[in-house]
Order: sequence, then structure tokens, then C-alpha cells
Amino acid sequence: MNNIYLDYAASSLKHFDIIKNSINELEKIYSNPSSNHSLGKKNKKLLEDSRKKIAKYINSNPEEITFTSGGTEANNTVFNHIKNSYKNGEILISNIEHSSVKESAYNIEKFGFKIIEILTDSSGKILIDDLKKKISYKTILISVMYANNETGIIQPIKEISQIIKNKNILFHSDIVQAYGKVKIDVKELNIDFASASSHKIGGTNNFGFLYSKKNCITPFILGGGQENGLRSGTSDVLGAIVLERCTERTLENISKLENLKNYFITSLKDNKVNFEINGDLKNSLPNILNLYFHNITSQRLITYLDVNNIYISGGSACSSGNIKASKVITSMYSEKRAEKSVRISIGFNTTKEMIDITVKKIMQLENKILDREVKNG
Ligand code: PLP
Repeated sequence: MNNIYLDYAASSLKHFDIIKNSINELEKIYSNPSSNHSLGKKNKKLLEDSRKKIAKYINSNPEEITFTSGGTEANNTVFNHIKNSYKNGEILISNIEHSSVKESAYNIEKFGFKIIEILTDSSGKILIDDLKKKISYKTILISVMYANNETGIIQPIKEISQIIKNKNILFHSDIVQAYGKVKIDVKELNIDFASASSHKIGGTNNFGFLYSKKNCITPFILGGGQENGLRSGTSDVLGAIVLERCTERTLENISKLENLKNYFITSLKDNKVNFEINGDLKNSLPNILNLYFHNITSQRLITYLDVNNIYISGGSACSSGNIKASKVITSMYSEKRAEKSVRISIGFNTTKEMIDITVKKIMQLENKILDREVKNG
């Protein structure tokens, strides 16, 4: 049986046609875009054209886009900027942030900053009342992801920006999962910093960008002064053109993803599988589903599907090779529910047939478990 890949939120399958065509184009003219000769200038033009198009996708200006080695570097750059620009202060982050936000936030505590986590409810969204309660005159930055990587739940970014409108507080959003899957307008949302990544939308690994309003960011990686002095290192023209082209492709595919996601849910219901959706489905990305199966542990389900060449994820791997319950689902519900929850994330290659096979396998496993329980009586 062919592989059924349903782990796009971890890393999307690549748009190999885009990557190959882009390599072919570059092969004829390849050069360092910082070089002054005409080949260098051709590369520079490709780089800047991509930057312009990417800026448009989030309604920013091209000079506000700094290319980075991905979402992790972009997130780290924001906290490095805070460390370099303030002596102390309080930083609010949601309790469901990706480790690249959490770790880089807690890393600057030793320099005098205090990290305060905002709680999440069972809809998967941060609690606005908790956020309001925790904002103080000491707050210098709020960092809340646009959409969560495990549940796909979209956060109340607009509400947050309205709450801090006339306050002197910076606003960062990790848009790694949301970028390309929903329309994002950084101007309308009054976002100061946003981090994005290419491999989540079928582009190359280790490429992404940081949007910083009015270019206001302290360089994190120093050297040759590329990216207007904001991020040194020889520019990755291939990374940039692939990112731009994959963004366009992904945006064109949103409704296909929405339909497939709904098809998955309907199919589980039609087959009478005992499940619940984690979080508020109406308020989620078109490609991520987090499901709680009443009768199947995530460890069991992931392993069973794996041997059937179906790839999903849930929780996080620990040193014993076992799967630890997801902290995100635990914070929304309970550890017990997290132990029976998995993430299914679809993408451009997913078909109804793949979903039919997957649902059938889930149903089979549930029946096996229930049969055994009856026999053991
Ligand atoms: N932020 C979120 C929400 C993510 O899902 C990821 C990737 O898993 C990252 C940041 C890190 O991005 P990258 O892999 O490009 O460093």
C-alpha cells in the first residue's frame, strides 16, 4: 500500500515541481545576490521580487520582511530584540506556544524579564479575561501564536490587538502554522512581529521570515550585513522564490483542504467511530484536526496506523520511545483525554480515498479493542 501522509503540520510534503522548476531557473544564472556583477544582480532581483510578493500576502512592506532560517530563528530573534532593547519588564505568552517561543522567552528571564503564561480554555483559545488580568504597566511584549500547531485553533489576535491598542506594548505572533492557510493582514491586526516558515507549506527546510513593523528589530545573526544589516549570511534565493510560489499555491488550495477536513469528520461519524473534536472546529485552520478517541490511546493508534503506512502524530516522543501526552490538550482538557488524542493534518496531496482508508483502519482498531474487552468481559 502507498504511504498515506497525514502529518503536514509537522512538515508538509514538498511541492517538488515548484522546487525543481526554481532550481532549473537558477541553474542558468546562479550567483551570490550580493555580488555586484550582472549575474549577482539577476539573483538580487529574484530575491527582492519574492520579498515584495511575500510582503503583499501579509499586507506589509517589503523592507519589513527579513528572511531567516525558519520559524525558530524568527522567534528567537524577537526575544533577542527584547533582551537588547529593555532592561526588564513582563512578557505575556500563551501556555500553548511552540517550544521555539517558550524556550526563547524563558531564556531571557535570567536577564531580568518575567514570563507570564496566559491560560487556554477547552475551545483551544486563550482566555481573554486572563490576558486582561495579567497585563500591567510592566508588560512590554505579548506573544500569542496565530494558530496552534497541535489543534489548529485560531487565536483571538484581533481582540488582543484591540486590547493593547493604546498601550505601549509590543505584539508578536508566531504565524508558522497559519501562514498560507488563512489570510493574514499584519497592518489591520497591528502586529509588530510575525514569524513564518517555508517547510510547513511545501517549501524548503530551514527557510522562513520575520516580519518586523517599520524594520524595527535588533540583528540576531551578525556578519556580512545582508538583509539590510538585519540578518547576515549569504541570501538563499532558492529558498525565497520557493517560499513565495508555495505561498500562492497553498492559498489557492484552502477550500480543498476545508472540504477534505469536513469529509474526514463526516466519514468518522458515518462509520460510528467514538470520537470528539478537541477545540472549536469553527475556529480552526483548514488542515489540522485534533481528535479524542474514547476507546483508543494515541500510542496505540499511531503505532497501528504506522504499520499500515499511515502517518499521523500526537503528544511528543520521550526517551523510552513512548508517546507523552500532549501538554496542549492537557491544558485544554486533562491528561487522560490527551492520552487518547491525536493530530491529523492534511495537505495538497491528500485525497478522499486516503481518508476512507484511514477511517476504515481507525474503525478496525476500535472494533478490535472493543471485541477484546467484551471477550475479557
Ligand atoms: N512555530 C510553530 C507554531 C511551529 O509549528 C513550528 C514548527 O514545528 C515552529 C515554530 C518552528 O519552525 P521551523 O521548523 O521553521 O523552525
